[in-house]
Formats: sequence, C-alpha cells, structure tokens
Amino acid sequence: MNDIKENIKVVFLGESEVGKSALFNHYIYNTFDKFTPHYDGPAYFDIKKINYKNEDYHFEIWDISGNEKYRSFAKLYIKEAKIIVLVYDITKKSSFLELDYWLETILKELGPNAFLILVGNKIDLYENEEISQRDGEKFAEILKAKFILSSAKDDNWSKNFEDALIDYIKTLNK
Ligand code: GDP
Ligand code: MG
Repeated sequence: MNDIKENIKVVFLGESEVGKSALFNHYIYNTFDKFTPHYDGPAYFDIKKINYKNEDYHFEIWDISGNEKYRSFAKLYIKEAKIIVLVYDITKKSSFLELDYWLETILKELGPNAFLILVGNKIDLYENEEISQRDGEKFAEILKAKFILSSAKDDNWSKNFEDALIDYIKTLNK
C-alpha cells in the first residue's frame, strides 16, 4: 500500500526555444497553439492527477525557463524534484550539448539516482535534424533515462509522457 500525501514534483529543463512550454501545454491543457496561458517569468506549474491501480498520484509539473538569467533560480526547483525532464530540439545541436550543463546541476542537487526523462522534441521537423535518434538513444542509455522523441503538436507526446510518469509510479511500488 502506497501512501503519498505530497505532490510528486516534475521539472522541465532545457535550452530556451526547445519547446518545453509547448510540451507542457500539450500535456496539461491538451493544446498546442490555441492559447499560451503563461508568462515570461522563471517558472510556472500545474497539477496533473494520474490514477494507477485505483490510487491517485498528484504530479506537480513545473515548466522552468531555460533563460540564462534564471539559471541559479532553477536549482531551487531541481532540489525539490523527483522527476527531471530534459528537453532538446532535434534540429539544434547546441540544445543537445547544453544538457551537460543541466546534468551537472542535477548531479549536484539530486545525486546520481534522479529519475530522468530525455526528450528529443520537434520531430515534425526531421528534415532539419541535427541530432539523430541513435544519438539520443545512446545518451539516454548513458544517463539511464527514459527516452521520448516528440512533437509538441502530436498527441503521442502526451501518451508517451504519461507512460513515463507511470513508470516512475511503478518504481514507488517496488
Ligand atoms: P521553450 O522556450 O523551451 O519553452 O520553447 P517554447 O515552448 O516556447 O517553443 C519555442 C518555439 O518552438 C515556439 O514557436 C513553438 O511553437 C515551437 N515549437 C515547440 N515545440 C515544437 C514542435 O514539436 N514542433 C515544432 N515545429 N515547433 C515547436
Ligand atoms: Mg518556455
């Protein structure tokens, strides 16, 4: 029997413009561009409830700005997180390389056992691909991360992301 009172904190990280907010909006509000409810600020969250084996799990999902000026701020959120979602843009090599910066911070704040989800976004723009699927997969293997290729325009994203959150729930029940 699992008795979780606290919200499970999930944090989206990655370079500016990779699509963190778009992925967040699609998953939480099921929209791509109809409305963008938020902000230019450093962080925003909403709650998503997942029922698994007749129990409710409340995920508190944070969309953190990748903007340089908020970086020190992001640490505060990372410290509290149970799940980290690292997003890169498959058409932009710099966004893949930037993940090293975030990983260093994650290692410092959470140690080596954080539950990581690596997301290669914008696969609808595959003709401009700079990071291959294989490179993404290899990196995920090294990180022991779940790996998702996504387009924030596509409903598959929400399904695959929720599957990854359920994989996390399964680790709690072990
Ligand atoms: P953030 O800075 O990481 O939050 O990135 P945004 O969510 O603001 O997205 C940056 C830009 O990329 C916006 O113009 C989005 O509409 C666009 N975008 C985000 N995800 C995708 C995607 O999967 N495919 C395409 N083609 N564009 C995307
Ligand atoms: Mg954003």
